Amino acid sequence: MKIVLTVGHSILKNGNCTSADGRPFGGILEYAYNKNTVNRVAEYLRSVGHIVDVLICPELKFKKSSEEKDYKLSRVNNGGYDLAVELHLNASNLHNARGCEALYRTDAGKKIAQQIQNRLATVFKSRGIQKRTNLYMLNSTTPTTVMLETFFCDSAADCDLAEKTDVALLIAEGIHGGEISQPQDRPVEPAPSGILYRVQTGAFRNWKNAEKLKADLEKKGFDAFITTVDVDGLLYRVQVGAFSNRSNATAMVIRLKSAGFDAFITS
Ligand SMILES: [Zn+2]
Repeated sequence: MKIVLTVGHSILKNGNCTSADGRPFGGILEYAYNKNTVNRVAEYLRSVGHIVDVLICPELKFKKSSEEKDYKLSRVNNGGYDLAVELHLNASNLHNARGCEALYRTDAGKKIAQQIQNRLATVFKSRGIQKRTNLYMLNSTTPTTVMLETFFCDSAADCDLAEKTDVALLIAEGIHGGEISQPQDRPVEPAPSGILYRVQTGAFRNWKNAEKLKADLEKKGFDAFITTVDVDGLLYRVQVGAFSNRSNATAMVIRLKSAGFDAFITS
């Protein structure tokens, strides 16, 4: 299939992001998450032979969110695509909802929506697929189109699940309609065995400062711990998670940065 993957929303000229922002509620910024995830979805789909383009609106260029529509539709409708899938994350008024949804308008869209929903629902609570006729990405697009509300960006619990999951793989498998072997299983991209990617958020000489950062992280729902190394005297490093898959570590860095913490990967 020739597929275009689009990321919902953009960052406007004035610096405002048009997406939902779950950060004040212990979650993440919808746009930032999807911008990171989309390239991994594309990579998985290309690995099984699909032709995939990624479409992200230019940043700091548009004055209003309505410019996103023209930018995307002209490209989606003139690219000769069989399928368009747009990535979103959900948010609720009371910030207490959870789960995954896939939206469609046509019968062909329904089939793909159900396939993706089935994969996402292995991890997230299923809210089902929904026929929608009032969304421009569904009613003004030429290719078969599906929009995903993969999980709730303002639910700390959903974000925790997402962080432990290769969400991009689930989406790609749903689009593909079958299993896709993970990069570490493919000879083209061998993962160095035994390497753990650790995400570090700070390093301190003073143990109390490390404890304070750990407490701040835990308050925001991160599972933090302190490790000690001897670098010309004891150094207390505050870390969140250790991952065998680098892309999962990267997703965690993005989540930490979205929550206002400094973070980088050490291995
Ligand atoms: Zn959205």
